[in-house]
Amino acid sequence: MRVIFVTGGVLSGIGKGIIASSLGALLQGSGYRVFFQKLDGYLNVDPGTMSPFQHGEVFVTEDGAETDLDIGHYERFIGENLNHLSSFTSGRFFEEVIRRERAGDYLGKTVQFIPHLTNLVKEKIREGYETSGADVSIIEIGGTVWDMENEYLIESARQMRREIGRENVVYIHVSLLPYIGASKELKTKPTQHAVRTLMSYGINPDFLVLRADLPIPEDILKKAADFCSLDREHIIAAPNMPTIYEVPLDLEHQGVRERLLSRLGFEVCPCDLGGWRTLVEGIHTAREIVKIGMVGKYNDLEDAYYSLNEWLRTAGYARKKRVEIRFIDAEEIEQGNLALLENLDGICVPGGFGSRGIEGMIIACRHARENRIPYLGICLGSQIMGIEYARNILGIASANSEEFVPENTENIIHIMETQKGVRDKGGTMRLGTYPCVIRGDSLAFEIYKETDIHERHRHRFEFNNAYRERMESAGFHISGTSPDGELAEIVEISEHPFMIGTQFHPEFKSRPTRPHPLFLAFVEACEQMVRE
Ligand code: GLN
Repeated sequence: MRVIFVTGGVLSGIGKGIIASSLGALLQGSGYRVFFQKLDGYLNVDPGTMSPFQHGEVFVTEDGAETDLDIGHYERFIGENLNHLSSFTSGRFFEEVIRRERAGDYLGKTVQFIPHLTNLVKEKIREGYETSGADVSIIEIGGTVWDMENEYLIESARQMRREIGRENVVYIHVSLLPYIGASKELKTKPTQHAVRTLMSYGINPDFLVLRADLPIPEDILKKAADFCSLDREHIIAAPNMPTIYEVPLDLEHQGVRERLLSRLGFEVCPCDLGGWRTLVEGIHTAREIVKIGMVGKYNDLEDAYYSLNEWLRTAGYARKKRVEIRFIDAEEIEQGNLALLENLDGICVPGGFGSRGIEGMIIACRHARENRIPYLGICLGSQIMGIEYARNILGIASANSEEFVPENTENIIHIMETQKGVRDKGGTMRLGTYPCVIRGDSLAFEIYKETDIHERHRHRFEFNNAYRERMESAGFHISGTSPDGELAEIVEISEHPFMIGTQFHPEFKSRPTRPHPLFLAFVEACEQMVRE
């Protein structure tokens, strides 16, 4: 068994997930199978109940786990699906320990952080490694080494080395060198403290990754080696890159892959980074701009729609276009600022929950339909499409969704049968991958070029079939359904050049080097607008 632990120092949010993902990509590219796990210290059982506004998007795995956004980075960088063993929180660990205690599993012992919690952490690390058939697991510990809630996670990482052998465990510490503008210097002091803190837990890092806004001078790298008692080649410079997809290439350039492979006792085989090089080249050569309006409500934090944004941008690069995403606050449209919708080549209404901003999204949707602007609705965005059509084409003025107006009698979108009576919020939506059957004579079929697809879901509400016939005969088509034909999975409007909505989230399956067909088609349709 081989495990790499990635910890963070100084600050969170400095790109530890991207570093971990890039190392994974390099190992994977060298022919070794990689599994990823993220351990977060907070007490939510999973990120599913957390506001994307605070924490970034909730990423959904094939098997329906609601996970941290880093799981999306891992999947995109290694091009493989992860699962419910990839995302753990203190809440999830505590819940399990308490459940075992209530079941009497601890046979009268005093149940403690050490050894009961730490044993559970190690058990889950082993389970992830064994069930995935990986050659190496990369375990990222969220936050920083100072966080009180991380202490037992770091202790578990320390114990792991004793259990499976020094040679099989690698500790990588990712820290920040802040830049002081007045003296024009990158400072190492906070990193010295972070490393010292890590050492106080009994962990000496094998590699130190230094993040900085600027290129890092050699003397600083040497200084860092000194205070960590590491050889210079175990210090990795990670200055900001023009795009995150350059990070694997930069690490390769520094020889990190060879050093990591030999440290793990793996054969140093060549690594094919062709796909990454093509992607990065595409990013640098893309000139023509395609402007897409993202009409949502979590716009203050771009990470709230992380996968979707990445999905749009990378599909653009594949078409040699630079996709410029304009984040438009649906509430501002609602308040009458229609100028926000001008000069857009495409409009996307992403997923969301709750009634805030809904009317603004409906206005944006109508604007796209009437002006023949390409429109893509993801989950909530597809429901908005139904409501808008019912209101403005069928003339049902009060058309709405049960989510926003439960007592309304004209709800085009209503609660799914299986969701009725569900009270708990955590992990209870329709989650994960489900099959969808596509109608042969549809835009969806032109895009997917197949009739049987699988996509990931995260919702409670669905299209109300009581309106199906009227909507269909007015030109609103349900072109993809669940195999029994009951649940609307894809909707589209026949008179419009490109207006399509999906109840599922295709962004979770898009990969930077293999963009999703739906998105490629959307960008292509937006390009037409640029030309016109
Ligand atoms: N709130 C809607 C539902 O639960 C849409 C969910 C989403 O966009 N992910 O059905």
